[in-house]
Amino acid sequence: MDIICSRKPGLSNAWYEAAQYLDEVYEAEYRGWKSTTQLVAPTRMVLLYERHDHEMCEDVQERANIIGGSGTHEILKMAAEHYGHKLCEQRFTIPFSEREIGIKADRVDPIPNTEPLEFKLIEFKECKTWAIILGEKEDWIWQCRIQAYALRQIGINVTQAQVDALIKDWSISNLEKAQREHKDYPEHQILDIHIDLGSDSEVEEYLSSRIQLLLENETVPDDELPECTPKERWMRDECFKIWKRGKTDKASVATVKDENGRRVPMTTRQMAEDAMEEKGYSTADYEIRYHPGQCTRCKHYCTARTFCNQYLASQKEGF
Ligand code: SF4
Repeated sequence: MDIICSRKPGLSNAWYEAAQYLDEVYEAEYRGWKSTTQLVAPTRMVLLYERHDHEMCEDVQERANIIGGSGTHEILKMAAEHYGHKLCEQRFTIPFSEREIGIKADRVDPIPNTEPLEFKLIEFKECKTWAIILGEKEDWIWQCRIQAYALRQIGINVTQAQVDALIKDWSISNLEKAQREHKDYPEHQILDIHIDLGSDSEVEEYLSSRIQLLLENETVPDDELPECTPKERWMRDECFKIWKRGKTDKASVATVKDENGRRVPMTTRQMAEDAMEEKGYSTADYEIRYHPGQCTRCKHYCTARTFCNQYLASQKEGF
């Protein structure tokens, strides 16, 4: 993708060049027909990016996260090289269904005491706390599965995988607060998350279906592309939260535990009223506020939104 970057007056050229460099050089190698990232992303998003990349314009400020993430990757790679780990940032392509799939595996470590030698894939990710608490990691799982599968195709027998996730907005004060209030909060800023690699046939089936979807839609007009699902749009439904009266920065209660112990948003006023009662909060000090739903990916992480009729239509409905 070659997105044109803009910058506000005053910002140094260094950031502008870093953003351009990332698009034009750093990420451009070994992309193949489609990269792993593209294969796990929504079809509509991938095709809109490809069709309109030269018309898209993003401010450098919007690329700050990507620049930061690439910096983290780079230092991890330099450290791996320094300490003699040869299999880091492995970039290659594999043929699949007459297409070349671009692979970039962050790090592959030999598993001690295995004969014949087995390997563990380690993927580095950056995310926000909510992504960990809500457990939205399906694309991470498939990325790891495809990469492990591809590595096996070139003779590196990957049998285990984990994502090392750096939580960008983690803070010790938020952890202590969550502990005081008995709320879920990741205990550490860097988490290692085990990934189940599935079987080769599962990965092949998944790859075939993703490739098929992209091919079927290659000539479909923009406005008729298959719609992104609420999950793909990282849709946060309308919900209710409990706020301390007068506070504007952070709700006191945003989620409750369901019967399986998973944190879920309060989608009805009744759920919020029950939570108020359970916590013994009085209406003199606390209030329930309504939060309209929003599509986090569309709004903040998908530059294709300018060309996406699905997003433009949902904007009119207030999402
Ligand atoms: S703006 Fe939203 S709906 Fe449109 S392609 Fe991007 S993620 Fe999908």
